[in-house]
Amino acid sequence: METLSRALLALSLMAIGVIVMALVLPDVGGVGPPPSPDAAIATVTTAATQPLVLLALVLAAILVMVSAATPGSRPMSAAISPRLPPLPANASTPARLALTREAITRAVTPTTSGEQVLDVLIEGAARCGASDVHVQPSGEGGQVTFRVDGQLEPVLEVSHVTLQSLTNRLKVVAKLVHYKSDAPQDGGFSHPMSDGQVDVRLSLLPTQHGEKAVLRLTGLGRKVPTLDDLGLTRTEHEQLERLLQKPQGLLFFTGPTGSGKTTSIYGALQHLRAVRGGNAQIASIEDPIELTLPHAAQTQVNRSTGLDFASGLRAILRQDPNIIVVGEIRDAETAGIAVQAGLTGHLILTTVHADSAAGVFNRLLEMGVEPAILASVSLAAISQRLVRKLCLYCRASHVPTEEQSKRLLAAGLTGRAFFTSKGCEQCGGAGYIGRVAIFEVLEMSMALREKLSATPNTQSLMELAVKNGTVPLLTAAVARAAEGITTLDEAFRVAG
Ligand SMILES: [Zn+2]
Repeated sequence: METLSRALLALSLMAIGVIVMALVLPDVGGVGPPPSPDAAIATVTTAATQPLVLLALVLAAILVMVSAATPGSRPMSAAISPRLPPLPANASTPARLALTREAITRAVTPTTSGEQVLDVLIEGAARCGASDVHVQPSGEGGQVTFRVDGQLEPVLEVSHVTLQSLTNRLKVVAKLVHYKSDAPQDGGFSHPMSDGQVDVRLSLLPTQHGEKAVLRLTGLGRKVPTLDDLGLTRTEHEQLERLLQKPQGLLFFTGPTGSGKTTSIYGALQHLRAVRGGNAQIASIEDPIELTLPHAAQTQVNRSTGLDFASGLRAILRQDPNIIVVGEIRDAETAGIAVQAGLTGHLILTTVHADSAAGVFNRLLEMGVEPAILASVSLAAISQRLVRKLCLYCRASHVPTEEQSKRLLAAGLTGRAFFTSKGCEQCGGAGYIGRVAIFEVLEMSMALREKLSATPNTQSLMELAVKNGTVPLLTAAVARAAEGITTLDEAFRVAG
């Protein structure tokens, strides 16, 4: 970028030189009486020296401009030096968040430019491991919030002026329409960091107080997960490995936004690649691509060019992959193509919005898939949630309250020994550090297939699945609470 602007500068100076020469030179041999020999000699001398003088002038001007432009100017594509003070190496996530919040508040003053505010926020978000940055306008100014481990954490209050210059900067880097503030806009950009780069997807939405910006950060410091990283129990791990051996069929993941479905799919892909090697031809159509996988052909949905899940999936099928990820099935067209692909030698991993594993089938029936076909093509539906993990430094034993005992009883569960969060220095007073997924795995059996094709009903499917060994989400969550991995409150919050 910088090299380009310097080259343009040099070229324009050259052009000025040429224009000046063009204006001066016609006088040399111009119209009028032929010059006397003496005058001719003088003219030749001038004609020979003038371009040299001009060239020297142009070169000098370029040198002056380039050397003046170098200090302080920031190469846009190169890594930038950190703007926030370093963190202690072994600081926990809550401690990192607290220190980063302090540093950001110090770094952003009323005179800080939008460009610098953006640098500071993205750097801060990356060091806290935040997945999203929300910039929410209020009446007077705005509030910046990070999403860390699924929780929204306020980090900074900004003035109206700072908010405006930050929004303007965002529009510039994401190449959005600068003057438009009354319509939603989406874009993306790569942000250079001292230790790599972070990819940002930006969404702007007009609100009554101004444009709200949400930045989703990907690509920095996140390693591609393996099956071992997902938090599966031993039984679930074996079950998923077995499911991933199938040559064809549909494997559904469900759960609310931010429940780790994509992480599970990436973990499954890593496993497939490890087990099948070069025989795993993986292609995906995603929105957004959250992590770059080394061995997969990943395609980003782009509605402005008409590339949606359905058209993307159709194009992928022409490329002969054997493992396909469909980011989400939410319409009849995509459902129909995915089912066909699953019947014809492709292993499809996808997500569907549903309340439970059994509820996935009802959603697909609503999209017009025939019950008998759905029954034969489905391998399993996996529902998942993320619970916060108790801090091991300060967790304490806990006897369920009367209210909790009632809820346990209502779910047909028992238990007297659980754990609670207290908060300490290690966890920044939160009582929790990090999150782990809990799963409800509904693997298809002969009996379930018959039930699904004959009398498809979410309730009766789930009852039969539980008889077959499916552990309901709440049961799984309460088991994790009994092990001291999380609290009963968390179990009820995500699965109650
Ligand atoms: Zn603690």
